[in-house]
Parts: sequence; structure tokens; C-alpha cells
Amino acid sequence: MKYDRVFNFSAGPAMMPEPVLEEIASEVMNYNGSGMSVMEMSHRSKVFDQIYQDAVADLRKLMNIPDNYKVLFVQGGGTVQFAMVPLNLMKNGVACYVETGSWSKKAIAEAKKYGDVKVVASSADKNFSYVPDCSNLDIPDNADYVYICENETINGTTFHKLPDTKGKILVSDQSSMFLSRPCNVEDYGLIWAGVQKNVGPAGMAVVIIREDLIREDVPDFCPTYLSYKTHADKDSMYNTPNCWAIYCCGKVFKYLLSIGGLEEMAKRNEEKAKILYDFLDSSKLFTGSVVAEDRSLMNVPFVTGSDEEDAAVVAATKAAGFDNLKGHRSVGGLRASIYNAMPKEGVEALVEFLKDYEAKK
Ligand SMILES: *Cc1c(COP(=O)(O)O)cnc(C)c1O
Repeated sequence: MKYDRVFNFSAGPAMMPEPVLEEIASEVMNYNGSGMSVMEMSHRSKVFDQIYQDAVADLRKLMNIPDNYKVLFVQGGGTVQFAMVPLNLMKNGVACYVETGSWSKKAIAEAKKYGDVKVVASSADKNFSYVPDCSNLDIPDNADYVYICENETINGTTFHKLPDTKGKILVSDQSSMFLSRPCNVEDYGLIWAGVQKNVGPAGMAVVIIREDLIREDVPDFCPTYLSYKTHADKDSMYNTPNCWAIYCCGKVFKYLLSIGGLEEMAKRNEEKAKILYDFLDSSKLFTGSVVAEDRSLMNVPFVTGSDEEDAAVVAATKAAGFDNLKGHRSVGGLRASIYNAMPKEGVEALVEFLKDYEAKK
């Protein structure tokens, strides 16, 4: 291997496509004849403005984002969105949340600070190993929105079908599945994603918001910075943005367009995930933690049934060049995050290794 890199199964920050990293490396001393690095240039400069414009335009193209939606780059990672969503969208002070795991729980806890939160469906009864039925939710008339975490990074579940929101706005945390498959933006009022899972470096979220949801009349106590309008009015440059993350994300958007867009990405992701799930389904030692219908294509948690054995497998994989397979500290076991940038060869090699490990038992 040219750079002696490992197969990195980290849940985030996570792998980025190698061609993108190489391009970034080649531009780090002198971006496009500017004589400086993107890290060193003014966010108000012409050169950076082009980087920003391209990033937005390429994301719009990739996701087919309709004209009445705004693309925002907001700092504070994913977590700030847990507060921004209720602060900006709770007009009546009522919101419905679907509880499917760690990240929706965090969103619920934060939203409760600002209004009445109704948990309209939950999979807590079975340790978040499935996605609850959301075809007939009890949604009050005055609910401002319905919120989901579309892919639970820690628990390994995905909504393969969106909830019936009964006409209410759907808000989705797509952090760990963003750009992993085609997405019909019009199904949502607001999509947000912390970019360090499936796109770029940590510290920023992409927000795609329908324009009519960008409000003037946020509560007085809402910090200026946490109003979507602040960011929308200034094209994400109210203050110095995360220039580096915008630049890197823009590179990834271009790369995804070059390989055939989200349809092609989805094909590759399905193929990759199938290799791993087929193995888990056939293994006597390892078991996937999620029911088959709701499995994530991105985060694959699995267990041996023994904490000691789990730890032994993690140690053995690490020694063999497969990094970050330890499950999240809150759930234990193992987890392979196989985001867009994980090549099929990485998953195949991991499965070969686990097969071999099992055979030697
Ligand atoms: C990682 C993650 C977050 C939090 O992102 P931070 O940038 O660490 O704040 C939120 N939601 C989901 C689904 C995540 O995977």
C-alpha cells in the first residue's frame, strides 16, 4: 500500500475517499495558484467564494435539491442541531420525536428544554434493535414537526421507509447516512448532517431547509447564532465559517458526482453491506445486533455473546490492520462502519479475517 493506511472502520470522524485526500494534499501549500493554503485565506476572498459556491452547487446537483430549499454550512457539528431544530421550528411549542437509539435520545433531551416533546414511537423495549412502525403515529394537530434520526450510528438501524407524518414537517438527522443513497429532499422540511461521518472533517453540519421554515420570529432567547435565518441571510458567512470543512466537503461532492452520483453510491453501499451481513447471518460465532429489515448500510454492530471474546476479536482485528472495530462504549460488542469511502476490498478483507478467526476457534 502506497501510504501504509489501515482499513479504518471508525464511526466518525471516518474515512475519506483516497483520491480526495490526495488532491487536498497536492493543494495544501498553494491552492489553485493563489499562493496560499485554503487554511490561510480569507473567507471573503474571491478564491474562497468560488470554493463555497461550487460546494453548494455540487451538493444541489448531487441531491437534486429543489430551488425552495437553502443549503447552510453551520459550525458546532451535529450536536448544535439538536438545539437549533426546536429553537427554530417549534412555533406552537410541540414536536413529535421517534426514539430509535442514542442520537434520537440526545435530540429528545435537548428539545425538551424548549417545548413539549411527544415521543410518538420507540424501540427502547428491545434495546433499539429495530425501527418502530411509523405508519400510523399519534400526531397532535398542533405538532410543529416530526423528528427522526434516519440512521442510528451507534445502534445500527436505518429507516428504509419514512414515517407517515400526517402532513407535518419531517425533520431528519442524516449524519451517518448523508449521501449514501438517493434522497427525495421534498419529503422533508429539514435535513441536517454532521459531516464527519460520511463526508469530511469534523466540526460542521450541512443543513438543507425549506425556505418557508426559515423564521424571523424565533424566541427572543434564541442566540443570534442559533437562528437559521442568521446563516441563511449571510450565505453561511455570518462569521468566519469552517472554511477547511467546506473545502473538503466540496471535494467529496465533486468526487461523488464523478463516480456517478448517489445511485451509484447506493449500489456500491448495498453490495458492501451485503458481504458483511451475509457473513454475519452464516456465522456461528458472530451475530448482527439489528433485525434484518431495519439494518443500516453504514454502521454494522455485531456481537459474539461474550464480552471477553468481543474484546479479543477487536484486539486481533487491530493487530491485523483493521482499525476502530470496537462497539460504542454505550453498547459494547463490535461495530464496523462502512461509509461511502470504505472500499469493497476493505469489507471483503475484514470478512475473510473474521471467517478465519472463527475457523480457528
Ligand atoms: C455523530 C452524530 C451526531 C453528533 O455529531 P457531533 O458532530 O459529534 O456533534 C449526531 N447525530 C448522529 C446520527 C451522529 O452519528
